Amino acid sequence: MAEIHISNRIRECQIHHMKFPWKKSVYAVASMSLVALAAGFLLPEKLVIPVKGATKSDWNPKSFWFSPWGKSGVHKGIDIFAKEGTPVIAACSGLVVSAETNKDGGNVISILGPKWRIHYYAHLNTLKAGRGELVRQGAEIGTVGSTGNAIGKAPHLHYAIISQIPYVWEFRTDKFGFDRMFFLNPHEKLTR
Ligand SMILES: [Zn+2]
Repeated sequence: MAEIHISNRIRECQIHHMKFPWKKSVYAVASMSLVALAAGFLLPEKLVIPVKGATKSDWNPKSFWFSPWGKSGVHKGIDIFAKEGTPVIAACSGLVVSAETNKDGGNVISILGPKWRIHYYAHLNTLKAGRGELVRQGAEIGTVGSTGNAIGKAPHLHYAIISQIPYVWEFRTDKFGFDRMFFLNPHEKLTR
């Protein structure tokens, strides 16, 4: 009987010891997430023009949300024109969430930046950052090209900023009104 009693006590202790560090790590993860969440919202978001040497005269300020526009119907970003091979730089620091090739965008990079916004860089000639990489503002992430549905067009960077939280006041009742809540105007963000 005594033996059983002792082994039960040991088991109890073991359970306690197993539970405790587990609880601790949950608190650690929770508090780290809170810090990350707060940082995501508090980090300043002063963007740099994402093509090296480019100025605001290298894109048309009215091209954002221009319609009709190709297959997608509306232009969800701006096109910054530059010579092929010009370095594309990160408009802000962030985490590369994808670096891939797709039919329309060609070689594209998506970076999660401050305020949980995705910064989208398309038609790159070469990709110079990989998924999971942390990049600093101004770091080279690729070069200007004309890949994807920009083949045959003048080389340019298609740059878009996508919010993960809907900007409900931007909602429009037209065809693209729903999307409009998630796309910010890069022209406004780059010229402020
Ligand atoms: Zn474009």
